Amino acid sequence: MRHIKNFINGQFLDAVDGKTFEKRSPVDGQVIARIAEAGRVDVDAAVRAAHDALQGEWGRLTVDQRVDLLYGVANEISRRFEDFCDAEMADTGQPRHVMTSAFIPRGAANFKVFADVFKTVSSESFQMATPDGRGAINYAIRVPKGVIGVISPWNAPFLLMTWKVGPALACGNTVVVKPSEETPLTTALLGEVMNAAGVPKGVYNVIHGFGPDSAGEFLTHHPLVDAITFTGETRTGTAIMKAAAEGMRDVSFELGGKNAGIVFADADFAAAVEGIFRSSFLNSGQVCLGTERVYVERPIFESFVAALKARCEAVKFGRPDDHAANYGPLISDEHRRKVLAYYAKAVAEGATVVTGGGIPPMPAELAGGNWIEPTIWTGLPETAAVVREEIFGPCCHIRPFDGEDEVVNLANANDYGLSTTIWTSNLSRAHRLAARIEVGITWVNSWFLRDLRTAFGGSKQSGIGREGGVHSLEFYSETRNICIKL
Ligand code: NAD
Repeated sequence: MRHIKNFINGQFLDAVDGKTFEKRSPVDGQVIARIAEAGRVDVDAAVRAAHDALQGEWGRLTVDQRVDLLYGVANEISRRFEDFCDAEMADTGQPRHVMTSAFIPRGAANFKVFADVFKTVSSESFQMATPDGRGAINYAIRVPKGVIGVISPWNAPFLLMTWKVGPALACGNTVVVKPSEETPLTTALLGEVMNAAGVPKGVYNVIHGFGPDSAGEFLTHHPLVDAITFTGETRTGTAIMKAAAEGMRDVSFELGGKNAGIVFADADFAAAVEGIFRSSFLNSGQVCLGTERVYVERPIFESFVAALKARCEAVKFGRPDDHAANYGPLISDEHRRKVLAYYAKAVAEGATVVTGGGIPPMPAELAGGNWIEPTIWTGLPETAAVVREEIFGPCCHIRPFDGEDEVVNLANANDYGLSTTIWTSNLSRAHRLAARIEVGITWVNSWFLRDLRTAFGGSKQSGIGREGGVHSLEFYSETRNICIKL
């Protein structure tokens, strides 16, 4: 059993009041870790450590020195790659290949890429005329915002947390991270990495706990937190935005989605089936960018549904390190109850259950895990709850469509606007649709391809702001204009 502590000012510390909570394995329900639960006093200590670090050695580093340190962090993550994979598998129960191909390498990249972006970014300058004819020069310098509160979710914990910590540190800020209560392990390992890489104390701090009336809320209300970056549910974002309004703190929000996948009859059929399978069911459907609404052009509707059904029924449930398995459980029993309630609601609303809909039979040693079947529905109106609301499970509803205008209207008729994936061999059509669909990210004949230099974020209720490349620098730093009279 692991004992995970808060990481404050370079030290691993229990909560001052000694409180802890349990982390259970998604795979079999066993308790795998006991976590220190930060109270107000611990959160205050972490924020003050971050605040003080801005005035210390960290604040005096040159850009080159800071970039070197972040490269050191990336290298240390790569050196401890297996430890990170093991920790993330223990927390999430997801298969090893998901860790090794995406989740952990992206963690290291988040430090390297943003170090490079910051090193190469330039700032504006303007020459201006003055009445005496001698003129003046304006130039901007980029300064850190200060202490950044980072609040992250459980679905791709290390990737999503470092996606914020990397650029925040590259810009010279310090951070206090509140990881999800479901996935504390990799944030703790990153504390070890920071110490090994020589990052000054207080630059990276971690407090564990829950949201309301716990570490999350204490962090967002702390007056020495200068900005808050959050990934999670839209409802939680609303609560955090209210907290950020005190003191006029800036926010960056990456929130929920109810993303459309659109498949035209002229698409490469096999690639589209595989692409929609990945986008709907990867990580057991717990991906914000995932597809829960699929629209298929009528001539291929029946064959597409049959092919996706076959793909779902071929998954092999099992432990993350079981080479014969390729499919993991949901994160928690609580989340499974929520997803199963949607499965029941779909039936009550009149769905045809094409496949799945329940809990798969599992061997006795895994029966305590949060296993659930990939599920496909057809036949529901767009007003059905499972077609409108984010479920965040391995499920999708598939509906036929007859033309571009119809499918654009269907895709846009939702409160969320995070991403979409379009499958077609007609590139003119892809361009036309991509411009009309109200989302932050559109993929054509692909999904989840990410270049970290590009803008990432959601429209409508899927977020506020963009991160990625220079967009991250816009959030994690401020420009200060300096005007010099010549
Ligand atoms: P969540 O909103 O329940 O929790 C996210 C984090 O916020 C956790 O650390 C939680 O403890 C904390 N929190 C909860 N209430 C809080 C409060 N009142 N004050 C401060 N902190 C609080 O989300 P989740 O269930 O962990 O993650 C799933 C959600 O995240 C889904 O909606 C998914 O779409 C979204 N998500 C979005 C993106 C994106 O990039 N847009 C990426 C991944 C996940």
